[in-house]
Amino acid sequence: MSQLDQLTLKKAAEGIRSGEFKPSELTKSLLERIKRINPDVNSYLTVTEEQAMEAASRADVRASKGELIGLLDGIPAGVKDIFNTKGVRSTSASKILDNFIPPYDATSVLRLKNQGMIMLGKTNTDEFACGGSTEYSAYGVTKNPWNYECVAGGSSGGSAAAVAAGLGYYALGSDTGGSIRQPASFCGVTGVKVTYGRVSRSGVTAMASSLDTIGAFARTVEDAAIVIGAMAGNDEKDSTTPDVVVPDYLSSLENDLAGKTIGVPSEYFSEGLDSEVEAKIREALKVYESLGCKIKEVSLPYTKYAVAIYYIIMPAELSANLSRMDGIRFGIKPDGEVEDILDQYYKTRNQGFGDEVKRRILTGTYVLSAGYFDAYYKKAQKVRTLIIEDFAKVFQDVDVLMTPVAPTPAFKIGANTSDPLSMYLQDSYTIPASVAGLAGVSIPCGFSSAGLPIGLQIIGPQFSESEIFNFGHRYQMETDWHEKRPNV
Ligand code: GLN
Repeated sequence: MSQLDQLTLKKAAEGIRSGEFKPSELTKSLLERIKRINPDVNSYLTVTEEQAMEAASRADVRASKGELIGLLDGIPAGVKDIFNTKGVRSTSASKILDNFIPPYDATSVLRLKNQGMIMLGKTNTDEFACGGSTEYSAYGVTKNPWNYECVAGGSSGGSAAAVAAGLGYYALGSDTGGSIRQPASFCGVTGVKVTYGRVSRSGVTAMASSLDTIGAFARTVEDAAIVIGAMAGNDEKDSTTPDVVVPDYLSSLENDLAGKTIGVPSEYFSEGLDSEVEAKIREALKVYESLGCKIKEVSLPYTKYAVAIYYIIMPAELSANLSRMDGIRFGIKPDGEVEDILDQYYKTRNQGFGDEVKRRILTGTYVLSAGYFDAYYKKAQKVRTLIIEDFAKVFQDVDVLMTPVAPTPAFKIGANTSDPLSMYLQDSYTIPASVAGLAGVSIPCGFSSAGLPIGLQIIGPQFSESEIFNFGHRYQMETDWHEKRPNV
């Protein structure tokens, strides 16, 4: 295991500044590691070696002249394949976009490029981010670097595995119902789901527009805070990004936590929660107590409806968003003859979409159809309001909430693929915060007896990123779970 690829982003940035190594050396070392390990892990679907080395040599020049743009300058990273990247194939892990090369960058990608990001390539995901294990990718499953028999989680499994396996100092992901927090937890890295609207969604293939958020994986909360700080803020191309000031996240990381109150919702510690996961969460709470925090048991009674309404709202919005995959505006030309335009739509979509995406499109169009809209979609939106109010009430009494991220550590590849419901229930602890548009982070807090990472979820009110980073960072100052690396 070479040293360079295991550094934190911060340490890599410091090394570039002190002249210990150059951006091109970091980039080369990671590209070599990708060549060696990626055939097993399947974290990257596309590796942009040439562009990465070109960008790195430009960063070398800036470094040698003392003109580095910021901490992210010259740092190699991975980007989930649902992000549009100019001139680089962006498949969303779907056959339907097999040959799609976007003419522009997503706002988040562009902002990072402007800060000197070296993009190493595009990472694997469940098709159109629909899944929780990366098993629904059209290009093969991503394996968990801690145990190749297990999933890396999903949908942003490729990005999580890349950061865990030393194939990127950070990586971008999206979180609609848990797709950053859950794979971060499964792979033993830090993952941030921002407040809805904190980071522009422009240029990221839409899954469920009222739930989608853009975030990042890194090895520490501090590193993640650097990345989020560079992407966050108003964007005229996404009208859901309000003009709320982006604070300097680094300045409050070490704030004292004494006297803060942590809410522990009883609904997250019920049936179905693995006892080892529960034990690790309780141990983490003890660490916070030792920092002077008060722990308060709270209740979020509408939590029990969150998964059900998510699986109405999400497919409804997904079905509308994916209607553009018609083989004309977007999508492959189908094999064989087409009789007319309708036939072309059918064949493109039949050949291009995988089974899980088809299942969601069917559910989504059903719940939106005239006779069922009120009974399903409208009702789900009303329950959504109750969940939002649940959280708002609790946040009057506590600063943040702490819960497990997922009911179990990473499961075996294939364990849930034949049972959609058991796969959907994996998201029980991440979906509520998504439905309410809240900020959340997943940080490593221990390992199971089988040696698989376990994550702690910290949830805060909207636009409380500074606060949850502060909580996460203080924990990482006290513990070393985030320093453990898989043996790959
Ligand atoms: N696992 C969830 C789903 O399948 C969440 C996906 C996501 O956040 N993109 O919908």
